[in-house]
Amino acid sequence: MIREIVIYPDKRLRKVSQDVTEFDEKLHNLLDDMYETMIAKDGIGLAAIQIGIDKNALLINLADEEGEQHKEDLLEVINPKITHLEGSEIYQEGCLSVPGYYDDIQRAKNITVEYFDRYGNKIVRDLDGLLAIAMQHEMDHLKGHLFIEKLSYLKRKKFEKEWKKKLKAAK
Ligand SMILES: [Zn+2]
Repeated sequence: MIREIVIYPDKRLRKVSQDVTEFDEKLHNLLDDMYETMIAKDGIGLAAIQIGIDKNALLINLADEEGEQHKEDLLEVINPKITHLEGSEIYQEGCLSVPGYYDDIQRAKNITVEYFDRYGNKIVRDLDGLLAIAMQHEMDHLKGHLFIEKLSYLKRKKFEKEWKKKLKAAK
């Protein structure tokens, strides 16, 4: 089922999500709904809180060189923890909860992340490139943070002004 995306400045996006304890049908339904929603909205990543569920679950599904997303590339990430961060990289990020806004954000270039799959199997992966960026972006959501918090003071001010205008116009 396609769910509604929580849009900034909705307070739910500031919630700290809780670890998943049951790797059951309820979790699988949540992940399936998240996937359908992410694909319907043309996203490459989605955290559960973006559909209003405060659980430590996120998806990443990068596109190939032709711009197509394949479900076999889907990462379902439960209760992730970054155990290593290295280097730095700047990438232009966007977010389904801040639709239409993109900006350069600096993050670690290489990360090691530990997480569980939907069945509760533990996985350890070294990530780089866009996968590492997307993982850090989505994990920020689980802690109640958004990429726009990383903007400079002036850029953030400009963003807030334009965003308010945009929300007003959409009403
Ligand atoms: Zn996001």
